[in-house]
Amino acid sequence: MKAASPFSFPVSPALVAKLAKLGLVRDADLVLHLPLRWEDETRVTPIRDLRPGQTAQVQAVVREASVAYRPRRMLTLTVEDDGGVLGIRFLHFYPSHLKLFQAGQSFRFNGEVRGGFLGLEMVHPRFAKADHATPLPTQLTPVYPTTAGLGQATLRKLVERALAAPIADTLPAEWLAALNLPELETSIRLLHQPPLDCVLNELESRRHPAWQRLAFDELLAQQLSLASARRQRQSRPAQPLPSRQRLTAGFIGTLPFALTAAQARAWQEISADLGEPHPMRRLLQGDVGSGKTVVAALACLQAIENGLQAAFMAPTEILAEQHFRKLSPLLSVLGVRCAWVSGSQRKAERAAAWQAIAAGEVDLAFGTHALFQEASSFARLGLAVVDEQHRFGVGQRLALMQKGTEPHQLMMSATPIPRTLAMSFFADLDVSVIDALPPGRTPIVTKLVSAARRDDVLARVREACLAGGQAYWVCPLIEESEKLQLQTAQDTHAALTAQLPELRIGLVHGRLKPDEKQAVMAAFQAHEIDLLVATTVIEVGVDVPNAALMVIEHAERMGLAQLHQLRGRVGRGSRESVCVLLYQTPLSELARARLKVIFESTDGFEIARQDLLLRGPGELLGHRQSGLPMLRFADLERDVALLEAARDLAQRCLAGHPDIAARHLDRWIGQRQALSSI
Ligand code: ADP
Ligand code: MG
Repeated sequence: MKAASPFSFPVSPALVAKLAKLGLVRDADLVLHLPLRWEDETRVTPIRDLRPGQTAQVQAVVREASVAYRPRRMLTLTVEDDGGVLGIRFLHFYPSHLKLFQAGQSFRFNGEVRGGFLGLEMVHPRFAKADHATPLPTQLTPVYPTTAGLGQATLRKLVERALAAPIADTLPAEWLAALNLPELETSIRLLHQPPLDCVLNELESRRHPAWQRLAFDELLAQQLSLASARRQRQSRPAQPLPSRQRLTAGFIGTLPFALTAAQARAWQEISADLGEPHPMRRLLQGDVGSGKTVVAALACLQAIENGLQAAFMAPTEILAEQHFRKLSPLLSVLGVRCAWVSGSQRKAERAAAWQAIAAGEVDLAFGTHALFQEASSFARLGLAVVDEQHRFGVGQRLALMQKGTEPHQLMMSATPIPRTLAMSFFADLDVSVIDALPPGRTPIVTKLVSAARRDDVLARVREACLAGGQAYWVCPLIEESEKLQLQTAQDTHAALTAQLPELRIGLVHGRLKPDEKQAVMAAFQAHEIDLLVATTVIEVGVDVPNAALMVIEHAERMGLAQLHQLRGRVGRGSRESVCVLLYQTPLSELARARLKVIFESTDGFEIARQDLLLRGPGELLGHRQSGLPMLRFADLERDVALLEAARDLAQRCLAGHPDIAARHLDRWIGQRQALSSI
């Protein structure tokens, strides 16, 4: 049986499959598949007028075609027009090319002109059979994003067919006038087939009003989808956990410090939210070391004083155990029953912990994602705290949701999210921010040191440790291979042990068994280890205040967020802390820019903003992007004003014009899975 085309015109199944790879599954998707750039093929330049560096189209006849074997196999052509001769080279070619380029045949070649050894040439130009009589296009030629095996010509034809039907606007004309945006139909047609008088620069910088309209629509779709997810959540019931001050007040009283104003404010927001009869989804943001843990502990206590259980989840065993060890003594004093679930526990021990949790004999459970997977075994879970949320996958969060009563959720992140990202991708969440560090911290001094001066750095580590301090040595990140990563960590450990015989040196990496990992961390915490050689497993949350020196090898390979997290492991006590970033030359431009940012700033928000500028939102969003409509046309830095307008309009639509909201979402998201509320 012949498979039906999902488009309004016949398309072969093979082609349908290729189009699906690009997310093109219906006419409307083709209509919104906009060009990356445009080629000007409307003019022909005489060969004698060509200049090196110029991109141009020539109309020429093949004089000679031959295959050369030196310096490598290639197809070379000599072509000519009335006034000049041009060389053409193809490094990749098929026998069919040889047949095509017969002497005397006429073609158009379009490409960059280079000054070659034997005069001007083009390497791999685009070409088409054409003579003087073949009409030139009167419009710029669109170049579309594509995938392997799908040529521009095919894609262009498909888009043209989809464009044959009129395009209905999703937004009323009065709204557009108020927003000063052009119609959708004109905008889309202009971008697919810009008229010649269009300023290419304006088109390519995406500042043209037509692009603005598309960017706005895309942002509006995103805002609508997030805002409706949020509304949906606010219509679902959850157990309210009002503040009773029974445990929370007592806990604040036992702390050796007062909450900072920023902590107190965040805590008030969370406390009020927990009292609502709808599931809380709040993101607690605060720079590394800003004191998020006590605020999260307070939230747990408010759940517990309402007779419910709380779960405290961390992305790594090291971090989960650290939270348990630090918090459980403080909380036990208040009568809170804490438990810890870990992969390193003996089976019987873990089973016993789960049994107690299921029987309701545990008030607060600490653990890694194991807790997510077995969340249904809680007797009465009221609150889940997710530390370092950017490390968790969406799926894991969803798993927690799929059980009977819906718990409140507090997510914590030390990767600050710039305002524009928070406004767009996190618009379904409420956000609290701890924007100041506790008093008395000595700022971390960051030093950039070339790897050529490794010996000086070794001397410094020796000195600091012999004076009673402790240090971290972070091994280079090797993304391509976990095996190589491990090897490097072991080699580094061996080398440092040989070079610094007077120090007690430990090693921790991702391949250690959880109990081995714990043993090393405990020894470091107890100062039985002076220097801890580590892979980036220590990136999150580890808190050993006596460690005030960190060396990061091959810092140029790491991302900004990662460097900031790593550096946040020092600067936790009152001693002056130093972070040495060892780098290998030559530096790429991106690496240089990153190192400059991390050297100049210790403010996580500023670093995150720079990161967004340097490489777009992907990294910052982490796992969050899966399931969320990504932005193809809008740019959060450039289009802030559009984002604000889209946010306001989304509210208005959902409040008073659900039909417009539905129509707009269908246009932009269609069959693609809409965001399920988290
Ligand atoms: P993060 O926000 O990175 O998770 P932590 O919660 O681990 O930070 O806190 C870092 C350190 O600051 C901890 O040792 C904690 O005890 C301490 N701390 C937290 N709040 C305060 C405060 N208000 N005053 C002084 N120290 C604090
Ligand atoms: Mg933390």
